[in-house]
Amino acid sequence: MEIHQIGGLGFDSNIYLILDEIVTLIDSGTGQNFKAVRQNLEKLGLKPSDIKLLINTHCHFDHTGGDHEFLKAGCQIAIHESEAGLLRSGDRFVTMAHFFGENPEPVEVARELRDGDQIRLGKTILEVIHTPGHTRGSICLYEPRLGALFSGDTVFCGDVGRTDLPTGDSHALARSLQRLAGLKLKSLYPGHGPAAEDDAQELIKMAIEII
Ligand SMILES: [Zn+2]
Ligand SMILES: [Zn+2]
Repeated sequence: MEIHQIGGLGFDSNIYLILDEIVTLIDSGTGQNFKAVRQNLEKLGLKPSDIKLLINTHCHFDHTGGDHEFLKAGCQIAIHESEAGLLRSGDRFVTMAHFFGENPEPVEVARELRDGDQIRLGKTILEVIHTPGHTRGSICLYEPRLGALFSGDTVFCGDVGRTDLPTGDSHALARSLQRLAGLKLKSLYPGHGPAAEDDAQELIKMAIEII
């Protein structure tokens, strides 16, 4: 499995590209910088229609605003079952799209995810861990072979996700972090800011102290 970060401009979340048999993205940014995202794909010899699966870590617009661009290109969209309806209805408020002055296009969700689901991309298997707290339907994606965790806005390198937005819950976040602390981890790929190659375990411990 090869991982590239192809997003993060402006208000965009990080966008992780996973190269395996099923070429997959984790999150899509706001869509406001889609041209740059497409150029980053082109540098790797890919185009949007090569992306077969787009997994959203949660419903927030800075992670899902670009979904419709990939949907148009034939990609399947996945998100936790409790937030699928927000994408389908083009919700502005729980997704925080109103904060960005945007009206999201409704997006068809092909795959509703649940805790414990295993998403097979080829050699790579991503395990869905439901980690409510930042939002009700936040998930982390765990690759046990590498000890890699894609953590969305649940935990960053040196910080934790905010819990003051709609459906946020600090007690739930604390429980979610405790659960992550039980995983065998090496690398952390958060929804914003830099990734950590080696010290994910310590970063989760630090996050528990912060919260
Ligand atoms: Zn975010
Ligand atoms: Zn968020």
